[in-house]
Amino acid sequence: MLLNSLNVCMQCGICSSACSVRFELNIRKLIAEFMGKKSFWNSQLWNCTSCRICQDRCPRNIKLAELIIEAKKNAIESGKVPDEIRKLLESTYKFGNPFGVGKHVKKKWMDDLNLKIAERDSFEYLFFVGCGVVSERVAEVARKTAELLKIAEVDFAVLENEDCCGNDVLSIGEEGLFELLKEKNRKIFEEHNVKKIITLSPHCYNAFKNYYGLEVYHTSQILLKAIKKAKIKFKNVFDAKVTYHDPCYLGRYNGIYEEPREVLKAVPNLKLVEMPRSRDLAICCGGGAGNIVRELKNRPSNFRINEAAIVGVDVVAVSCPFCLMMLEDAAKLNKSKIQIKDVAEIIYDSVFDS
Ligand code: SF4
Ligand code: SF4
Repeated sequence: MLLNSLNVCMQCGICSSACSVRFELNIRKLIAEFMGKKSFWNSQLWNCTSCRICQDRCPRNIKLAELIIEAKKNAIESGKVPDEIRKLLESTYKFGNPFGVGKHVKKKWMDDLNLKIAERDSFEYLFFVGCGVVSERVAEVARKTAELLKIAEVDFAVLENEDCCGNDVLSIGEEGLFELLKEKNRKIFEEHNVKKIITLSPHCYNAFKNYYGLEVYHTSQILLKAIKKAKIKFKNVFDAKVTYHDPCYLGRYNGIYEEPREVLKAVPNLKLVEMPRSRDLAICCGGGAGNIVRELKNRPSNFRINEAAIVGVDVVAVSCPFCLMMLEDAAKLNKSKIQIKDVAEIIYDSVFDS
């Protein structure tokens, strides 16, 4: 059915010119090759990050991102999987995270924080940190966010044994593993009476909201509420020119564009400017659909750092652990002086004395 929709393509090229990985995947050309055919596959499709710009911009309303996930699903079923993706899937199945580390590493971020534990305490919100927290940099953001939630008087707990939400497993096309993770998580949530979830990652936000049907909030939404209610009060100025990079799974997939910007605008002295490609036009950091563990020659994150440099900022603010990892890596690689900071870190720096 989805494949038949390719037949209405007019080869305008809007999809390929807007594509986040356009130097690694020529989507218009592939469509031309497979129009009227019974299959749709080329190994270039693994480079697709599921950012959905092509789909949202296509004047013929062709569900390109969904079609690509469908194509990956068929490729997985016939065993055509790149090594890095196979390892990511095996690790997610074995350890509950895509990065090949055990659960003891995932829970290290919460050491000494004295947080409520969902497995034994009662709470209003579950703070779900996501798999990126195995990176020390993301762990730092999770710790600072937890401190902010505390001063905002949010009654929350964390899971000692947090599994993967499965969002990216699904965008890789591994539906079976996704269903397994969903079932496991549902059971855990029911067992510990989880009613409301706060996620650090837009990927988890997307999965819980759209595939699990749960009540879920992104940290930026909770922080904005706390700022508006004066539960979070600023003590320090943040003297910097900042731009905000929209994560695909917060912006395009879930329409959350304003809250992170509102949070940033509330910070004393912070000057917020926009990159030309922002909100629904923002490109992906390159880490979606399993590409967080892959190495592309033409990384979208490099282009994004250049775009930030053009608008002359000191800081790129992000609100996704994958964007943080990808953009920070690109900034280092390009020897850029631009700092990459999570929105919550900027708030933290303006609230707590260092
Ligand atoms: S944007 Fe849509 S109509 Fe245009 S080339 Fe791409 S798929 Fe075809
Ligand atoms: S979903 Fe994003 S990365 Fe994939 S083909 Fe479309 S625009 Fe390119």
